[in-house]
Amino acid sequence: MDIAENIKRFKEELGNKVELVAVSKTKPIADLQEAYDVGQRIFGENRPQEMQEKAEALPKDIEWHMVGHLQSNKVKYIAPFVSMIHSIDKLSTLKEINKRAKQNERTIKVLLQMHIAEEESKFGMDEEKLTSFLESEKLKNFENIKIVGMMGMATFTDDMDKVRSEFKKLKQIFDQTKANYFNDDPNFSILSMGMSGDYQIGIEEGSNMVRIGSQIFGARN
Ligand SMILES: *Cc1c(COP(=O)(O)O)cnc(C)c1O
Repeated sequence: MDIAENIKRFKEELGNKVELVAVSKTKPIADLQEAYDVGQRIFGENRPQEMQEKAEALPKDIEWHMVGHLQSNKVKYIAPFVSMIHSIDKLSTLKEINKRAKQNERTIKVLLQMHIAEEESKFGMDEEKLTSFLESEKLKNFENIKIVGMMGMATFTDDMDKVRSEFKKLKQIFDQTKANYFNDDPNFSILSMGMSGDYQIGIEEGSNMVRIGSQIFGARN
């Protein structure tokens, strides 16, 4: 894999309307440095301790995005530096993030993760859960977090019509949520939708942030 070439190719393809999160989980620090050296500044990881180690070793102007499920007891490892957490699906996690962000005198941006795939997955909210989440009084107390949009993963399948219809659904939910709850909040603007195998469909369906791992860094073991 020529990581530098891959980053340049993606930057050119995505232009300035779609943000690139380089998903570097399991990859060594040298690989991230190579991407950094050609201008990549947003990196995605899914394990708090791994992210913490990499953040300590790499330049401080990197924006770290937590893309995987986050357990409350691990928030403390990343709260001092993490820029965005893509995987919020319950209030209890958000409460802990708010508390740790406050201790660090920071604001942490978060995305609400929706469950749109057919696969059984413990993670992500359905529409009913989303409504009760958004209407909870507790949300107003979270002064050190900023809800900036939504994330979702399509079913892992070769059936691209299915992937497309799941992304369409997520875009609809995003638009409705924006209209009903964040109409006068310009921060709510990010739709994180699409990975190596389906990012083109994600963009066609309205994504403005893609999370690309294997197409940049090669397959993971
Ligand atoms: C690993 C991962 C990615 C990147 O996957 P690729 O298929 O390698 O691009 C994107 N999003 C999430 C949530 C991930 O866990």
